[in-house]
Amino acid sequence: MDTSVLVIYTGGTIGMKQNSKTGALVPFDFSEIEKEVPELKKFKYKLDTHSFRNPIDSSDVKPEFWATIAKIIKNSYDLYDGFVILHGTDTMSYSASALSFMLENLSKPVIFTGSQLPIDSIRTDGKENILSAIEIAASRQNGKPVIPEVCIFFDYKLFRGNRTTKHSAEKFNAFRSYNYPALAEAGVEIKYNLPAIAKPESGKILKIHTEMDTSVIGLKIFPGINCDFIDNILNTKGLKGIIIETFGSGNTPTSEKFLSKFKTAIDKGLIALNISQCQAGSVEMERYETGILFKNTGVVCGKDMTFEAAITKLSFLLTNNKTVTGIKEDLQKSLRGEIS
Ligand code: ASP
Repeated sequence: MDTSVLVIYTGGTIGMKQNSKTGALVPFDFSEIEKEVPELKKFKYKLDTHSFRNPIDSSDVKPEFWATIAKIIKNSYDLYDGFVILHGTDTMSYSASALSFMLENLSKPVIFTGSQLPIDSIRTDGKENILSAIEIAASRQNGKPVIPEVCIFFDYKLFRGNRTTKHSAEKFNAFRSYNYPALAEAGVEIKYNLPAIAKPESGKILKIHTEMDTSVIGLKIFPGINCDFIDNILNTKGLKGIIIETFGSGNTPTSEKFLSKFKTAIDKGLIALNISQCQAGSVEMERYETGILFKNTGVVCGKDMTFEAAITKLSFLLTNNKTVTGIKEDLQKSLRGEIS
């Protein structure tokens, strides 16, 4: 049987062109990409494309958009060996994280990629990204896909999607995975880091989740943060969960006023997850007295999760009809390799 890959085009710089009036980049349709990458025709695989009718700048991504991608993958899952998603870089880590939760029992590659420069610019990084992403999506070993995960391929590196962060707005190596090794590196050959790649349980059928509960918010702590503002945020009507980006290994100010705001809200049922503002390393709330005091408010430890993974995981878990205790338990354990 021929190897087959479905390329899903959603927008992003890779397919953008300059608006002749404003000079700003706006998304264009997939035909531009095909025109600029004639190498696509050289692949021996069956290559199909599904183009979004209105490609978007990924700043406009919403949970409904993730649900659409999940449904496209589900509906064509048996027809293809792998999937490549062309997507803007700005929110690619959020989308890859969200899709990792939405696609339960995934056993085929779902590879996000895009570019920093449009495909029609001479020095574009888009060509290499799209061609290698397709090759990775098609690669098999012993009759099985090598990468049964949602990933991001960018600038010669393949990362687990829910471990990534966009770290540069200008460099070609736009993404980093600070707390998990790269799953592959593309040089003359594509070298796979097999021990780091997920091993799906065999015989399980892909199940998609298309709901996300957006009754969540992120809060970055900084020296001098105003407790009255925190109070307003924590008492927002309808708020169910909060991701708090704390200092270092999970530390916060220790004033009674600060801590009591969190304790009261958590006692009333708010789910609060502690992740670090540092990109590398992990929250360890028992390392410093400050961390212990914050832990005593009832906040949950998010260890080494990225903000992107934490916020999409919380939104996902809130739709699963679980109890607050059940959600807190799941937040602290690995569902898709997003936490160590
Ligand atoms: N603003 C663009 C987007 O995220 C940036 C990019 O694709 O690199 O759609």
